[in-house]
Amino acid sequence: MAEKLVPVVCPWCSVGCRFYAVSVNGYIRKIEFDYDHPTVNRGKLCPKGVASYQFINSPKRLKKPLKRVGEKGEGKFEEISWSEAYRIIAEKIKEIKETYGPEAIAFLGSEKITFEENYLVHKLSKAIGTNHLDFPGRYCQYSNSPARTAVFGSAAATNPFEDVAKAEFILIWGHNPAETAPVFFGQYIEKAVLDNGAEMVVIDPRATRGHKYASMHLKPYPGTDLAIALAMLNVVISEELYDKEFVNERTTGFEELKEAVKEYTPEWAEKISGVPAEDIRKVARLFATKRTALFVNEGLNQHVNGFEFALALANLIAITGNIGKEGVWSGVFPGAQCGFCAAMTGIAPNKLPTGKLVTDEAARAELERLWGFKIPDWVGFDLTTMIREMGNKIRMMYIVGGNIARSAPNSRWVREQLKKLDFLVVQDIFLTETAKYADIVLPAAAWFEKTGTAISAERRVQRSYKAANPPGEAKPDWLILVELAKELGLGEYFKYEHPDEILREINSVIPIFKGATPEYLAEHPEGCFFPCTEPGEGTKVLFKNGFKTSDGKAHLQPVKWREPPEMPDEEYPLWLTNFRLVGHWHTGTMSFESPSLEKRWPEEYVMINPKDAEKYGIRSGDLVKVETRRGSVLVRAEVTDHVREGVIAMPNHWNINVLTLETIHEKTKMAELKAVAARIRKVEE
Ligand code: SF4
Repeated sequence: MAEKLVPVVCPWCSVGCRFYAVSVNGYIRKIEFDYDHPTVNRGKLCPKGVASYQFINSPKRLKKPLKRVGEKGEGKFEEISWSEAYRIIAEKIKEIKETYGPEAIAFLGSEKITFEENYLVHKLSKAIGTNHLDFPGRYCQYSNSPARTAVFGSAAATNPFEDVAKAEFILIWGHNPAETAPVFFGQYIEKAVLDNGAEMVVIDPRATRGHKYASMHLKPYPGTDLAIALAMLNVVISEELYDKEFVNERTTGFEELKEAVKEYTPEWAEKISGVPAEDIRKVARLFATKRTALFVNEGLNQHVNGFEFALALANLIAITGNIGKEGVWSGVFPGAQCGFCAAMTGIAPNKLPTGKLVTDEAARAELERLWGFKIPDWVGFDLTTMIREMGNKIRMMYIVGGNIARSAPNSRWVREQLKKLDFLVVQDIFLTETAKYADIVLPAAAWFEKTGTAISAERRVQRSYKAANPPGEAKPDWLILVELAKELGLGEYFKYEHPDEILREINSVIPIFKGATPEYLAEHPEGCFFPCTEPGEGTKVLFKNGFKTSDGKAHLQPVKWREPPEMPDEEYPLWLTNFRLVGHWHTGTMSFESPSLEKRWPEEYVMINPKDAEKYGIRSGDLVKVETRRGSVLVRAEVTDHVREGVIAMPNHWNINVLTLETIHEKTKMAELKAVAARIRKVEE
């Protein structure tokens, strides 16, 4: 039997590691490291990467289309044919459009499907006539991304990963790359610190795996990081440590920013965050006087006040001149390998795939000319508003590869809302918690079972190739969307027989991907950095000569302190926060079905500081009840000084969203997943 070595981009995180799948007659026998590959990992993989092909062989994979026969949420289905599934969905779409209009239908794209497939989700939603379009990444980068866009005109990472090794100061703030992006941490951050002598500081309420390399570890209470960022701005401005030339020549709004932060002294921030004022001063001085790489992630993003926090950091980056040159780094760092695939195809309620707004008449007209059909001009709902409107303004949802019944905040409420839909379609590889509420479930091919494009956190665009056949009758997401479009009478707009044809259309529709052609990516395994307006390496360093704003300058934004929406009180006296584990990914849809990962990381738990544990009579291994105003979960306790006193922390792969809060930021629509008031007690067994 002939073995084929098929190049595959790792299906999990946004580092974008590549390796070979050893494929025999449509099955994957094993994976092989690719030591010569010129990309980020150079043959290295983390535990998830090594286990990455296991879930595709799970006996729980969906193999036939399913029609619900039991109650919603019960998980009882009967198998049906593809033609019947398409017929039912198309009839329902027609009926709902006739009764309520297309604005009663909502679509979700996904960070788990390819660039090409997200593009088709977007195109199909517009062809049906709705702008209610979002993806579960709403709860991932939607504080940092809009804030950086407001200041710099673009949110993406400023530099390639290789520049991190040239940084003099590395600040890791609300990010745990040693576990969530391990190959990146080992290849670049460790190298900068151990080989090149960079100083590293961590700001996090928990001690994370990489913190042993840090010279300082600041432990704020969850949700109070904004106070520290404001105080750092105060120090940098009052001590005149900012880059005066950069501020004069490349920014606007400095005087307004100076006025806004003058009251936020480190002593003020200490009272709110619990971090000593002198430590805040030290970090601010390092940030301003060194070539700085800043890594933030969900500790910034998943807060209602995350937008203000991200604005403060973008201001800090700009006034210290840590942008637009080599040896620095800042940007969004998506949790998933295809977060950018959804974001860059405009999977959002107000965007076109070109990056322009749906309300921009000229941009709509240009896309209508390319696509050949009318595009709605109204701004749709974000994911949380879609959930809130289920059964009211939203009657039908089409969810591709998302598990909102577990990943969205206040998940018990989400499950009740899902029941209110007239019709739900879920397209996925497993019967997820969300799929159990569906009327029709469509079996999709997994990452290794299709060809497509991925975009990593350093803006690197790479191709991943089909190495295995899908099980049973499962089909690639792009093909399902094409076949459904034909059933809907929209076939003339969806004439694709291979993902290469979709990518070629993207090359002509989205200018910053014009050069990322199937041919270029096939010949260049290292891919290219977007913007790549012609075949070639693309743009490695952004903003060297100007920002993507109207006048080319960074627009500094005055920021004010904003309290988290819920604070500990007498009834719920602790802060509850969440974190990710190296061995699991998102809601576990895939990693729970990977035997080597499931064996090493089998269950959820709660971390509690020894002083709090003593107060509540809790020992490691005890069964405890963690409660918030939304609900409760039973888990084992781990007593550890890796969390600060007053804070408890749980991994976010299992049931923590029963406890989190669906309150959203008025602009970004980000909910509160990282800082809610909680209580804990031991449960007798
Ligand atoms: Fe995969 Fe990320 Fe691990 Fe690399 S670091 S092997 S991309 S999970």
